[in-house]
Amino acid sequence: MTKKGYLIGKYYELMDSKKESKIAFYTNPANARLESFQIADQLYYVGDKKVCIHLIDTGEGLILLDSGYFGTTHLLVDSIFRAGFDPADVRWIIHSHGHHDHYGASEEFRTMYGTKLAISKVDAESLRKYPHRSAIDTSEYPFAKTPEFDYEIEDGEIFELGNIKIRCVLTPGHTDGVLSFFFDVTYEGKTYLAGMLGGAGVNALTLPYVYYNERTEDPAHQMLGSIEKIWNEPVVVHLGNHPGNNKTLQKREKKLAEGGNPFIAPDSWQSFLTELRAKAEKIIIDNKKLDEEVSAIVCD
Ligand SMILES: [Zn+2]
Repeated sequence: MTKKGYLIGKYYELMDSKKESKIAFYTNPANARLESFQIADQLYYVGDKKVCIHLIDTGEGLILLDSGYFGTTHLLVDSIFRAGFDPADVRWIIHSHGHHDHYGASEEFRTMYGTKLAISKVDAESLRKYPHRSAIDTSEYPFAKTPEFDYEIEDGEIFELGNIKIRCVLTPGHTDGVLSFFFDVTYEGKTYLAGMLGGAGVNALTLPYVYYNERTEDPAHQMLGSIEKIWNEPVVVHLGNHPGNNKTLQKREKKLAEGGNPFIAPDSWQSFLTELRAKAEKIIIDNKKLDEEVSAIVCD
């Protein structure tokens, strides 16, 4: 057996171990439902307990950052209405990266409301060349299909609509084309920078994923470079890509129980990046070890 064959086998073993919980999720996605809530004057959380979706009211239409899993469009539509908006006013869905859990609901949403879909140019090209990088084939959702995107965003591009300017920064690692988002929001008369690292899952940095996804650059080193690139962003309203990134669920509970706004948290950004850097550094060591172990037991 080749090293590649062995490590891809490991990838499928890992996916098999997650199969049951994925099927349980799709059997009744409403178990992951979360009541939408407001973070800042023009910013709302309309995602669920598994994946973040943010709604931005630009004054001239709405923008969504990501759309969530396949089979959850009804949750998103409900969340938008409950936040006090009409889904038909969503002009754009901007995707953080090219994985199915972030764009799954997009095609259905576009079909209903004529919304346009955007993603980084790098991930759009990556998905065209390596469709399996979407992770759709191991998603356990039987009807999943990657949409055609309407617009491809370049590194550093400012995505402007109404009174909102979203700075889109390429931060590869989790995928080659992760976009991080930075934009001003207001809350109680003050302006704050909101920011999200658009892909923080470190599983994607491990050797079985690297081989499965045919990544040519080492994603762990890419992620360290990306952390460096966005380290000094003066983010006060730290947004998650998945709720664990910024403790979305805990902050929401605290907000409901005690009032105030736990999302105004100047320390959250760098403490998150510090933890992430440590995880990526550990994976570099683990990958090296695994590579040596595998090389010792396979023939090439
Ligand atoms: Zn992802």
